[in-house]
Amino acid sequence: MVARSRIQAHLEDHVIRLMQCRRCPRMQSTPVSGGAVISDVMLIGQAPGPREPVLQKPFAHTAGRTLFQWFEKFCGLAESTVRSKIYFAAVCRCFPGKTVTGGDRVPAPDEIRNCSSWMDEEIEILRPRLIIPVGRLAITQFIECTKLEKVIGRKFCVRRAGHTLDLIPLPHPSGASPWHKVSPGKQLTERAMRHVARHPAIAALAGCDQSLSRAKSNETRRN
Ligand code: SF4
Repeated sequence: MVARSRIQAHLEDHVIRLMQCRRCPRMQSTPVSGGAVISDVMLIGQAPGPREPVLQKPFAHTAGRTLFQWFEKFCGLAESTVRSKIYFAAVCRCFPGKTVTGGDRVPAPDEIRNCSSWMDEEIEILRPRLIIPVGRLAITQFIECTKLEKVIGRKFCVRRAGHTLDLIPLPHPSGASPWHKVSPGKQLTERAMRHVARHPAIAALAGCDQSLSRAKSNETRRN
């Protein structure tokens, strides 16, 4: 209990410092955080889009809708549970701005380097059992990824920030890429989500949702 409150205080202090970070002058927003959620699972996105800084939460728009549908369908976890039980991180925490063609700018190597210390610190604090990197940029922070076909649908054991953990990569759920909607991406994404659902750290979260719905249905029966 004491250890948990120490971790909570450490994580809250971390998030406060993260939100004040202004290391990257080309970024177009201040940082976005999913909050100081103590978890055995970290989900790593690429970088927020234009809407996330306004709504002040990661995966707040269309990509998030698809991502949370995956968790609902394969793990039985509602979006509210995913947000309140999984720590959300990203390769870069600020919106990088648009390219001349209108897409979201991919963070530059110096920005990725600047932001990596935040992720390392989070791994040191949380010591997660599972990291789920979402999209190629997030995946390549941990393992080589020349082709999504070679890594999606597989589980890896990696070491980062002095900690060994499981890694289950997912493709980016953004509508910009159809990879996860067509063969073989569709089947590989389903296989990856089944790995996620079976992971003990996720199964423990699914237990939370089931006991919550059991409690709710008992409550309804009593009324
Ligand atoms: S991208 Fe990361 S390192 Fe750069 S300003 Fe935002 S929070 Fe700081």
